[in-house]
Amino acid sequence: MPGRIEALKEDITTLTVDAIVNAANTSLLGGGGVDGAIHRAAGPQLLEECRTLGGCEIGDAKITKGYGLPAKYVIHAVGPMWRGGKSNESQKLESCYRRCLEIACEHEIKSIAFPCISTGIYGYPKEQALSIALSTVKEGLKRMPEIEKVIFCCFSDGDYQRYRSLLSG
Ligand code: ADP
Repeated sequence: MPGRIEALKEDITTLTVDAIVNAANTSLLGGGGVDGAIHRAAGPQLLEECRTLGGCEIGDAKITKGYGLPAKYVIHAVGPMWRGGKSNESQKLESCYRRCLEIACEHEIKSIAFPCISTGIYGYPKEQALSIALSTVKEGLKRMPEIEKVIFCCFSDGDYQRYRSLLSG
């Protein structure tokens, strides 16, 4: 299991993996943060395909092609906005990671990279969000031997160090 999960400090748009995950919003029509970076790097065809998807519920995800990205696919996941912790945020965040892995399996995706969903503009406390991400992925990988590699792609040193310590613990 440890060999299948890795933390990297990188810009997710540069990764050559089967799929990168986008921290999208319910419209799937682009936004700031990692969403904006992915749309810029993929080019306008990504938005065109996203327009055909009819949005996405919080806790769910939808897949598109990667267009100008090195990644073959983008899985657009909608994380919860942090509202103090009493609005089922943890279940919704768990559900995001689970749905991404399920969709990856359906498309025979063997390598997938996640950003730290919900921890930017959506304000989810980082320690909690990263620990949910890791436990949900570990649980999912037990049931999904087809997935060979999961990368937690961190944009900040702090997130990278947090994952490193969670992964070594
Ligand atoms: P959310 O609205 O789900 O909080 P954000 O895009 O604001 O989404 O932030 C999610 C995470 O993505 C944050 O940890 C942020 O630092 C990170 N991030 C922003 N740009 C990139 C990028 N190019 N590659 C990887 N991670 C990124």
